[in-house]
Amino acid sequence: MASVKTKALVIREAPYQDNDKLLTLFTEKYGKQRAIARGARRRKGSLRSVTQLFSYARFMYFEGKNFANISDGTLIESFYPLRGNVIQMTLASYIAELLDDFYDFYQGDPEMLKAVTHIFYYWSEHLAQNDGALAACFQLKLMRIQGLGPVLPRCVRCGAHQEALTGFSIADGGTVCQKCMKPSDIPLDPGLLKDMQDWMQQPIKNICHKKWQAANVQKGLDLMDRYITAQLGHPTKSYRFYKELTEQKGIQN
Ligand SMILES: [Zn+2]
Repeated sequence: MASVKTKALVIREAPYQDNDKLLTLFTEKYGKQRAIARGARRRKGSLRSVTQLFSYARFMYFEGKNFANISDGTLIESFYPLRGNVIQMTLASYIAELLDDFYDFYQGDPEMLKAVTHIFYYWSEHLAQNDGALAACFQLKLMRIQGLGPVLPRCVRCGAHQEALTGFSIADGGTVCQKCMKPSDIPLDPGLLKDMQDWMQQPIKNICHKKWQAANVQKGLDLMDRYITAQLGHPTKSYRFYKELTEQKGIQN
């Protein structure tokens, strides 16, 4: 069996048999990978810390018939503080859920892994002016990388750049102009459109340090989650939980 060495982020963990864990890794070189970590639930197991959800580590594993078998792991970042902040934890779970949903096994994407570890780093070090803006930036970058648009800032129906863009079409995947607007389109104000363009195009570092209007971040996240849900064909569990949490606590990001 081939032995593989790669950096990876743990995007899912579940108990397996007596002392083991079944993990989903988002690896640098080989995309999504399911792997068993033997003894990872033992108190003194050597794989205990590297196999926690959101741990970023250098793993060595052997490829198996159904699952890979992890033989060694060295922690790079645990992003431990994420677990102490319920909003960050929920947004991080949302990112993990989307990576799991949108990537296939063996579909490597080192750029995406880098982007996500940067976002987790900014969150866990409390460096972001607005935590939600980084999640919105992830949503848009993920859609673009997956080749799912959305088209902005021109009309997805007539192609106009000059017309005022007043709405967003989930079905057609982009902004729409005043002339082409249908009742089913979601109204979009120019401020939010500008922010969405920035989230899609600007480097994550810039998005982290800029102050964003909390109301726009919330609207952008909601809009993009509706779009993502339409692409997936099923709702995203973590985002629903995030909404319940923010509405209940009256928290804006
Ligand atoms: Zn148009």
